[in-house]
Amino acid sequence: MMEVMHGSMGWIEVVCGPMFSGKSEELIRRLRRAKIARKRVEVFKPQLDDRYSKDEIVSHSDARLKSEVVGSAAEILQRLDWRTQVVGIDEANFLGEGLVAVASQLADSGKQVLIAGLDTDYMGRPFAPIPELLCLAESITKTLAICMRCGNPAKHTQRLVDSGDLIVVGAMGAYEARCRRCFEPGVPKQELLPFTRPRTAEQG
Ligand code: ADP
Ligand code: ZN
Repeated sequence: MMEVMHGSMGWIEVVCGPMFSGKSEELIRRLRRAKIARKRVEVFKPQLDDRYSKDEIVSHSDARLKSEVVGSAAEILQRLDWRTQVVGIDEANFLGEGLVAVASQLADSGKQVLIAGLDTDYMGRPFAPIPELLCLAESITKTLAICMRCGNPAKHTQRLVDSGDLIVVGAMGAYEARCRRCFEPGVPKQELLPFTRPRTAEQG
């Protein structure tokens, strides 16, 4: 993507989708390639998400990349080494509306900005600031997970615990991926499908 660009023009790439869809994996893959291309890379993630590591972004498949923790989007501008050419940002949905101006400023000043985040919340609503970033981006990728109820491609993050808070940081088992048909805003009430039952020995 974007390999036809010349000079030091900046741009914004967004990878979005539900939890477990491979956003962090894809972000890490792109940032590793930028390093191979000898670009100067810096990676940021919000304070909120230090579930697995404080100084790394970590995917559910345990891919890891060194990162810096920031308390807000504005802090990215303060912390940035201005020689950096590629700026990676994971869990961008936790950084709020301020990220829109920050990402624009970075891209306008010649940086390649790679952003990953949830596009919808636990109710299926657009999750700021990702929708606005999609409008400003040069490149958009939507990743899908596998529905844990039926096995179809899943675009939703299903909350499994009862809470009305927008952010419940993923304690183990608090969320799963669900498709359009199986997703239930709020706590799931539908019966389980055969897909969910443990496989027997003869199924392999
Ligand atoms: P995200 O950043 O979107 O939450 P990650 O990149 O952290 O996703 O993790 C993606 C990995 O999660 C997959 O490669 C797979 O190994 C694992 N995984 C666990 N549950 C699912 C699921 N329901 N659908 C797809 N992948 C899953
Ligand atoms: Zn489903």
